[in-house]
Amino acid sequence: MEVNKDRQSSTEENVPPSWGITIGGYCRHCQKDHRLEAGPARQACLDLMTNLRVHQRIDFQVPPHQSNPLCRTDYLFGEARGKMFGALVGRDELGREKIFYAFSGQYNGLWSVADWVEPVFDPAAFVNVTEDGEREVKRLTREIRRLSPQSDRRKELVQKRRRLSRQLMQQIHGLYRVTNFRGAGELLTDIFNGENGPPTGTGDCCAPKLLQHAALHKIVPVGLAEFYWGKENASRSRQHGFFYPSCATKCEPILGFFLCGLESDV
Ligand SMILES: [Zn+2]
Ligand SMILES: [Zn+2]
Repeated sequence: MEVNKDRQSSTEENVPPSWGITIGGYCRHCQKDHRLEAGPARQACLDLMTNLRVHQRIDFQVPPHQSNPLCRTDYLFGEARGKMFGALVGRDELGREKIFYAFSGQYNGLWSVADWVEPVFDPAAFVNVTEDGEREVKRLTREIRRLSPQSDRRKELVQKRRRLSRQLMQQIHGLYRVTNFRGAGELLTDIFNGENGPPTGTGDCCAPKLLQHAALHKIVPVGLAEFYWGKENASRSRQHGFFYPSCATKCEPILGFFLCGLESDV
């Protein structure tokens, strides 16, 4: 897929002039909002945009001959469309500046790419759970298709498949054990602020990935920013090269937990 050069060249100009994007949400533990501003992470994101534009791949830290073809950025300008990228700038225990980068969800089927923060769960465990479960669901689907719509056996298998799908979802939720700056480890389903459970993909955005990575490595964040890179999303609410606050449906209900325990809040 050909990369659209016009859209790629309009990056820095797209930064909104009134810069004041923060991320955050309500924390049940402290019964108040925790927020984190973009601060120096804005510049870290602009640097990342430059690297993406120059190298046209996300594994730009490795020499071209070692690059994984799945890491090319033209993937973001095709049917899959673009995705969010994020940067966190923080300080370690000795006060040294640390910068971490994340992409939301999977990149072209990859959960892990060197030099990018890992998902909030163990990717190997995720693959184990989903591969076995999905294989069984597919097997049942094939069997169901062969049976007559009225047969009892078919109804039985449809039920079985439904149970299995629900079980699979619970197993996946069980992998999302998240950590914050108080050192509290909890299931994502337990910390989600909302009447219904967390929507699919909750915890896979850049902000939770970056904050959990910082918490686990004793890095105190001073800024976090996220931007969109690639072909605009279907609803056109995400445009190439623009910064965005954390999303309302998946991140807002969990970021209060993730930001809890930061020194600035004490
Ligand atoms: Zn989000
Ligand atoms: Zn709190």
